[in-house]
Amino acid sequence: MKKLQRLAILTSGGDAPGMNAAIRAAVLTAKHHSIEIIGFLHGYNGLLKADYQMLGEAQVQDIIHRGGTILKSARCAEFKTQQGQIQAARVLDKLAIDCLIVIGGDGSFKGARALSQQWNGQIIGIPGTIDNDLAGSDNTIGFATAVDTAVNAIDKIRDTANAFERIFLVEVMGRESGYIAMSVAIATAAEQVLTFESHQLPSEQIDSIVNHITNAQANRGVSSYIIVVAENLWPKGTLDLANVLSQQANIDCQPCILGHIQRGGSPVYQDRILATKLGVAAIEAALDGAHYVMMGEVSNTITATALDKLPMSQKHIDEFMFNAQQSIFEFHDYK
Ligand code: ADP
Repeated sequence: MKKLQRLAILTSGGDAPGMNAAIRAAVLTAKHHSIEIIGFLHGYNGLLKADYQMLGEAQVQDIIHRGGTILKSARCAEFKTQQGQIQAARVLDKLAIDCLIVIGGDGSFKGARALSQQWNGQIIGIPGTIDNDLAGSDNTIGFATAVDTAVNAIDKIRDTANAFERIFLVEVMGRESGYIAMSVAIATAAEQVLTFESHQLPSEQIDSIVNHITNAQANRGVSSYIIVVAENLWPKGTLDLANVLSQQANIDCQPCILGHIQRGGSPVYQDRILATKLGVAAIEAALDGAHYVMMGEVSNTITATALDKLPMSQKHIDEFMFNAQQSIFEFHDYK
C-alpha cells in the first residue's frame, strides 16, 4: 500500500456547528502521524481553483467552540459537471494529494461519488449537516446544536404564547427530513408536530390540525398551543399555512420561521465530541487505506459506510419517538 503523505480536507454544502471541531481533530491527528494536510476553501470551489491553505496546529487552535467553518463552505454548480470533476482530479494530482476528506451532507457526498469516477485517490466523508438525514451515523455533526438552538427559541416563544394564550406555528429546518422537527417538538412539549412522517398529505392535514387545536382547547381550556412545522412540508410555506388556518377555520395563529439561527452558534458538547471522534476516525481510516466511505457512529461504534449506501437507505425516525409525541398529546374528541 502506498504510504499516505498528503491529505486534503474541505467543508461543503450547508454549514453545521461542529465542522470546526472535525477539522481540528483531523488536522491534529494528521500531524500526529506526520502527514501533511491542506484545506481547500469554499467547498468544491476551492478544489477547482486550487485555492487552499496549509493546516497546522496554529490554524486549529481555539476553534472547537466556534460555529461555521474556518475553511468556509459554499455550493459549487461547476463541480456538478463532468468537466468540473475532471478539473478537480487534475488539481488533486497536481498537488499530490493521496486522500481527500469531505465534511458535508448528502449533496456533498453525491459530489464525492462523482469525483471518484475521475480520480483514483482515497475519498473519505464525515457527516456534517444539521438535518441528520444521512444513514451510516445515528447523529450527524451539527444536529444536536440545531435542536438545542430551536428548543431555546421555542421556550421563549412559549412564554409569550402563554401570556396571550396564543397559537404559534414555528417552522424549523431539516430539508426533507423531520428529525429536527420531531426532536424539537418532543423537547419543547409542542402540542402538535407536522413532519414528513405524519403519514398524511399536507392538504389532508388541515382538518386534523384544526380538530386537534379544538379538542385541546376544549379539554384544557384556552391556552398557549405550539405547532412545530418541518420546512418544505407545507407546499406554499408556513406563512401560507397560517393564512389557510385563519381563512378556512378561523384559527388565529402566529407564524414564526426560525431559519438560519439554527445553523449558527457554538456547538453543544455532543457535536464537539462526535466531530472529534469522526475527525480522528477519518484519518485513521485513511491510514488503513479506506476508500470511498463515510465515517459515522452507529450504536456508539465508529462505523465506515460505503458512500453509495447513504442516500439509498435514508434513515427514518424511530416509530417509538413518533408515537410518544402523538400519545402524549392525544386529546380525545370533546362532545
Ligand atoms: P449538502 O452537502 O449540505 O447536502 P448541497 O446539496 O448543496 O449540500 O451540495 C453541496 C455541493 O455538492 C453542491 O454545491 C455541488 O458542488 C456538490 N454536489 C451536489 N450534488 C452533486 C452531484 N449530483 N454531482 C456532483 N456534485 C454534486
